[in-house]
Amino acid sequence: MNKRGHVLNGLLLAIGIGFVLEPGVDLDTATKIAQITVPIVLGALFPDVDTAFGRHRKTLHSLPVLAIFIAYPILFDNLHFVWIGVLTHYLLDLLGSRRGLALFHPLTDKEFSLPFGVTTSSKYADLVTVIITAVEIALFWAVHTYVVELDADISGAAAGFGV
Ligand SMILES: [Zn+2]
Repeated sequence: MNKRGHVLNGLLLAIGIGFVLEPGVDLDTATKIAQITVPIVLGALFPDVDTAFGRHRKTLHSLPVLAIFIAYPILFDNLHFVWIGVLTHYLLDLLGSRRGLALFHPLTDKEFSLPFGVTTSSKYADLVTVIITAVEIALFWAVHTYVVELDADISGAAAGFGV
């Protein structure tokens, strides 16, 4: 997926997640969307830094990199929500192109892909991006509602677990 697709995905995802975390149409919702949009879009752009540093779709497209971004809010109480952007970048790369990702780099350079995908250059790329984003928002809602609260203050939740 190209940068345009990742930005579109990050922006729409942030708006959707804003409504999930602060349901309603009021100042709280707008504030939440403002709080999470920049971190999510930054996260969505970050993995492709490996086009310049390292090897593309390997160095920064791996689960260890995602784990680092998940750890930061818990350990250091910063970089909240950036992990969502990184995660959605991986999903969009997996679904929105035919090439795979080296998810277990640096353990192995093997690239994992899905048996389906739409090429970045396809005229349907934007439509696919929007559909993927809608599914992601639904998944986020389901996890946030039924599994674990995914709001900013997961550092507080982690403290509750003695981390
Ligand atoms: Zn990428």
